[in-house]
Amino acid sequence: MKNIKKVSCFGAGYVGGPTMAVFASKHPQIQFTIYDIDKQQIEKWQQSETLPVFESGLSLLLEETRNKNLSFTCDINQALDDVDIIFLAVNTPIKQSLSKKESYCFDIKYIEACTRSIAEYFDQKKLNKIITLVEKSTVPVLTSKHIYEILQENQNFFQKIIIFNQIISFILKQYFIYRYIQKQNIYGVLFINIRSAINDLLNPERVIIGGGNSPEEQNSTNMLKELYEKWVNKDKIILTNIVSSELSKLVSNSFLAQRVSSINSITALCEATGANIEEVKKCIASDSRIGSKFLNCSVGFGGSCFKKDVLGLAYICESRGLTEVADYWKQVVKMNEYQKQRFSKLIIEKMYNNLDNKIITIFGVSYKKNTNDVRDSASITVAVELLKEGAVLHIYDPLAKFDSMKKEMQRQEIYNDCYDARIKFFEDGESASINSHAIIILTEWEDFKQCKYERMFKKMKRPSFIFDGRNLLNREEIEQIGYAYIKLG
Ligand code: NAD
Repeated sequence: MKNIKKVSCFGAGYVGGPTMAVFASKHPQIQFTIYDIDKQQIEKWQQSETLPVFESGLSLLLEETRNKNLSFTCDINQALDDVDIIFLAVNTPIKQSLSKKESYCFDIKYIEACTRSIAEYFDQKKLNKIITLVEKSTVPVLTSKHIYEILQENQNFFQKIIIFNQIISFILKQYFIYRYIQKQNIYGVLFINIRSAINDLLNPERVIIGGGNSPEEQNSTNMLKELYEKWVNKDKIILTNIVSSELSKLVSNSFLAQRVSSINSITALCEATGANIEEVKKCIASDSRIGSKFLNCSVGFGGSCFKKDVLGLAYICESRGLTEVADYWKQVVKMNEYQKQRFSKLIIEKMYNNLDNKIITIFGVSYKKNTNDVRDSASITVAVELLKEGAVLHIYDPLAKFDSMKKEMQRQEIYNDCYDARIKFFEDGESASINSHAIIILTEWEDFKQCKYERMFKKMKRPSFIFDGRNLLNREEIEQIGYAYIKLG
């Protein structure tokens, strides 16, 4: 790695921070700088007590690397000065939700803003070195072309540009999309997308690199391979072409989302027929062609990627006239919305169609366990449906906080001022459940399995309901305590 001395990352979010921390720990001889326009975000990363992202193992990695070969800054000059590789890990939200106008392309305004500031910086500097720009952000296929145009227009000294693309996928959860644009050994741009937990970053299931065959492109491939081979086994690195790698990112997540929607659709059928989803699951999982992974039913998938990537895939299909293919994929998201609404309705109906001023305890706001990420969390949709019926929510989540929940409701335009007084967060499940009519489990945190349901039952209203949106608890044990237990399927 003697050619790489400094790597910078635009975007100190869920992706940029953990990714750079892992890189920094693996390459102590390289300087890593994380840049963000949000000053508060940068300040949070500088203190162990205020980290904006929770990932198991992240604090340890930061202790090892922060102020040694990993730094955080709001100063673009500090980020770009003498840099060899730039990662773009800024947000690329969906422009509009599916429910509104069915418009769902990614908003790449932040990508464009980064590209322009990078182009401006290097145009002024007229550096005589190769710089690689990596895009980790999720972008529509062929965004590289737009970025290329912006760079080309701004970089007058470029004569020839080679596009190179890479996706790195870790345990089907993480990937990089990476493009490399190089100009006569003067300048290079590399783009990447990644989504990861530290463990997944450290132990990737596979790494996919998409690129071309020219000697320059192969040089870039080798450089990246070398970067990852420091801890990723060679056999796990798959090489492919640009468009295939770009699409693979969207397709991987879409297949996973489809699997969740498939099993969730069957929960509705089980409830309607008297079959048991756990039995059905056991039977189908024993077929090795289907397997048991990603077969847990739930109140619906969430997170910043699944919905966005499925809709992004549908958008590409539609824009190429493949309406039937687009409709097929859109149905995956529709099924997910249906599941959230179906579960909310079930709660309301079972509670006698009256939630007016009833206290309801919600277990879990984050979209999955072990994270404070609440983006597109199914829990928030259910919570809002209950609030609309007049419920008062007592919430317990080991990591997620009211501020992020409120921000997400506002982002989705489902927030109402009166909710502030109707939502209260608690430090533990037991305090949250006092005087509740029901407990609703919406995230699969291990903590929720360990709660003292017997003790909690004594301080709840009767009848006391548990609605298990993750099928986490043991029906017999819970019913023996006296709860009315309702689960999916
Ligand atoms: P995030 O919202 O947590 O972080 C993005 C950061 O970028 C923010 O802190 C924001 O202030 C910063 N930013 C915006 N414009 C900027 C600019 N011009 N210069 C510098 N910083 C800027 O987002 P995230 O979850 O880290 O995701 C980043 C991208 O990676 C998205 O496109 C996402 O789809 C993709 N991705 C995310 C995941 C995931 O799990 N979060 C997984 C794979 C891919």
